[in-house]
Amino acid sequence: MEKFVCGICGYVYDPEAGDPVGGIEPGTPFRDLPFSWVCPVCGASKDMFSPQATDTPQLMF
Ligand SMILES: [Zn+2]
Repeated sequence: MEKFVCGICGYVYDPEAGDPVGGIEPGTPFRDLPFSWVCPVCGASKDMFSPQATDTPQLMF
Protein backbone atom coordinates (compact mmCIF):
# COMPACT_ATOMS: atom_id res chain seq x y z
CA MET A 1 0.00 0.00 0.00
CA GLU A 2 1.04 3.56 -0.64
CA LYS A 3 2.81 5.53 2.06
CA PHE A 4 2.14 9.23 2.65
CA VAL A 5 4.60 11.82 3.85
CA CYS A 6 3.84 14.81 6.05
CA GLY A 7 4.79 17.98 4.19
CA ILE A 8 5.72 19.74 7.41
CA CYS A 9 7.77 17.35 9.55
CA GLY A 10 8.49 14.44 7.20
CA TYR A 11 6.58 11.83 9.21
CA VAL A 12 5.69 8.88 7.01
CA TYR A 13 2.30 7.23 7.38
CA ASP A 14 2.73 3.52 6.66
CA PRO A 15 -0.67 1.85 6.04
CA GLU A 16 0.74 -1.52 7.02
CA ALA A 17 1.70 -0.17 10.44
CA GLY A 18 -1.23 2.19 10.97
CA ASP A 19 -0.89 4.83 13.65
CA PRO A 20 -1.00 3.35 17.16
CA VAL A 21 -0.71 6.84 18.65
CA GLY A 22 -3.81 8.01 16.78
CA GLY A 23 -5.73 4.77 17.31
CA ILE A 24 -5.46 3.72 13.65
CA GLU A 25 -5.47 -0.04 13.03
CA PRO A 26 -2.64 -1.56 11.00
CA GLY A 27 -3.76 -2.08 7.41
CA THR A 28 -5.71 1.19 7.16
CA PRO A 29 -5.12 2.94 3.81
CA PHE A 30 -4.38 6.66 4.04
CA ARG A 31 -7.61 7.54 2.23
CA ASP A 32 -9.60 5.67 4.88
CA LEU A 33 -8.17 7.66 7.77
CA PRO A 34 -10.84 9.74 9.49
CA PHE A 35 -11.01 13.37 8.40
CA SER A 36 -10.12 14.34 11.95
CA TRP A 37 -6.85 12.41 11.83
CA VAL A 38 -3.74 14.56 12.13
CA CYS A 39 -0.01 13.95 11.94
CA PRO A 40 1.04 12.34 15.26
CA VAL A 41 4.30 14.30 15.22
CA CYS A 42 3.36 17.87 14.30
CA GLY A 43 -0.45 17.88 14.18
CA ALA A 44 -0.76 18.71 10.46
CA SER A 45 -4.06 17.80 8.82
CA LYS A 46 -4.42 15.12 6.13
CA ASP A 47 -4.25 17.59 3.27
CA MET A 48 -0.68 18.44 4.22
CA PHE A 49 0.36 14.90 3.27
CA SER A 50 1.46 13.75 -0.15
CA PRO A 51 2.17 10.29 -1.57
CA GLN A 52 5.70 9.04 -0.99
CA ALA A 53 7.74 8.69 -4.17
CA THR A 54 8.26 5.02 -4.90
CA ASP A 55 10.67 5.28 -7.82
CA THR A 56 13.69 5.83 -5.61
CA PRO A 57 15.19 3.14 -3.43
CA GLN A 58 14.51 3.55 0.26
CA LEU A 59 17.61 4.14 2.33
CA MET A 60 17.81 2.24 5.56
CA PHE A 61 19.61 4.11 8.28
ZN1 LIG B 1 3.91 16.13 10.55
